Amino acid sequence: MAVPKRRKSRSKRDMRRAQHDKVAAPTLVACPNCGEPFVPHRACASCGHYNGRSVKRGTATPSS
Ligand SMILES: [Zn+2]
Repeated sequence: MAVPKRRKSRSKRDMRRAQHDKVAAPTLVACPNCGEPFVPHRACASCGHYNGRSVKRGTATPSS
């Protein structure tokens, strides 16, 4: 089994651990229906559209 040759310095250890608390900004794209930014692969929060049709409860759109 592979074993580390050198002990990692405190600096390197802390640099590695510092990654754990990082908060990444969510990826946002413009909605093709209303133009509002929304998270990809999720229904738009403002108009409820996904994949070209409305998936919001109560807002039926006659298109399939
Ligand atoms: Zn939208």
